[in-house]
Amino acid sequence: MLMREKNIPPLLAQEEVSSLLNLPHKRLEEAYWKGIIKNYQKHDIEAIQFRKGLGSVEAGTMVIMGDEIEIIRGFPKIRRTLMLHPALEKHFTGDVAVEEKMNGYNVRIAQIDDTIIAFTRGGYICPYTTRKANEILDMGEFFQEHPEMVICGEMVGTLNPYVSHYYPEIGKLGFRIFDLRKKLTNEPLPVMEKRKLLLDYSLEPVRLLGIFPFKEAPAKIMGIVRDLGANNREGVVMKDPMMQLEPLKYTSSQAQASELEYALSYPFDLAQAFLFSRIIREGFQAHEMAESDDKVRERALRMGESILYPMLETIKRVKNGEVAAEDLVIEVENREEAEEFIRHLRDLKVMATLAEIKDGKAVIRRIHQSTNDKVNNYLQGGLY
Ligand code: ATP
Ligand code: MG
Repeated sequence: MLMREKNIPPLLAQEEVSSLLNLPHKRLEEAYWKGIIKNYQKHDIEAIQFRKGLGSVEAGTMVIMGDEIEIIRGFPKIRRTLMLHPALEKHFTGDVAVEEKMNGYNVRIAQIDDTIIAFTRGGYICPYTTRKANEILDMGEFFQEHPEMVICGEMVGTLNPYVSHYYPEIGKLGFRIFDLRKKLTNEPLPVMEKRKLLLDYSLEPVRLLGIFPFKEAPAKIMGIVRDLGANNREGVVMKDPMMQLEPLKYTSSQAQASELEYALSYPFDLAQAFLFSRIIREGFQAHEMAESDDKVRERALRMGESILYPMLETIKRVKNGEVAAEDLVIEVENREEAEEFIRHLRDLKVMATLAEIKDGKAVIRRIHQSTNDKVNNYLQGGLY
């Protein structure tokens, strides 16, 4: 026991951490031995990372040793509606604020001492995201006046190493803010207050698509999501204007299809985890939207095509001797920046190599090993 005691990271042993998180020291220690929380020492930061949730503390939470102890809470998981009508009726009591759900990756930005740092979903400090967030956004004044806030938003666009998606208004890379939350408590600002504050600092929020009484909301949202889908956009997040109730999400059929397409491009690495839930979403959406026979057929075709074609494409590529891999493109000033990002991916257990650097862009090849190996095996007659 005494031996173990000695190995606890010094930050975790501090009484203050236990009281700030409202978790007994013993539980923290136990969680440390179980790997729920980890020591995090990178990019000149000493921190504790929550790999999983613990009590009311979300996964992705970081406890950071700055001039003082700072706590950046994990971004809460947003649950999904399958049927808008009954779900909204059950969940909301007054108005529903409908924001666009942007398809990129979740980033929390906070100022620690004098540095503005970007954290990805799990609490990792991504060097590319931190650099780009500081280039794209002018946050100096905001954080000077609101050092207790965390900016939560989506990094979107095509030069995006995690979720590449084209938006005409964004192009290569952009950032849209959906929440302003307090450090330590994770308390979000109400929707309009958030938008007002962002406007004051010329920081760009996600689009607010309307605020509707909860009874009217489902029909309105159904129309909104249909239009978003037709424009190849993901969907909506529905929020209590006061942010007292949990937000909910709902996505377009086209979003489902493009996720299927991606997953089935690497069937043995991604498809199992993706497939079932996307199919279920389509079933309930088709039911609730009560579409014409033609529309249902269109949906069925979209679904089928997004399952079969990408898989077929991958089988062909592997047959032709290519490796099952996807190319991520990021902007870099030099080779070291590309290599730093690859090291970061390795930390995340993602296998990637530098394929090429040209004109300020690095092509990073992410290999999907299981797909590669299994497709090769079956092509050679391996049994399933
Ligand atoms: P997780 O919920 O753990 O992030 P997921 O892949 O299921 O994982 P999504 O289905 O993309 O997540 O939905 C939740 C995410 O949507 C949020 O974490 C956030 O990054 C993103 N998002 C985009 N637009 C908004 C918005 N307007 N409000 C809140 N979140 C948004
Ligand atoms: Mg997303």
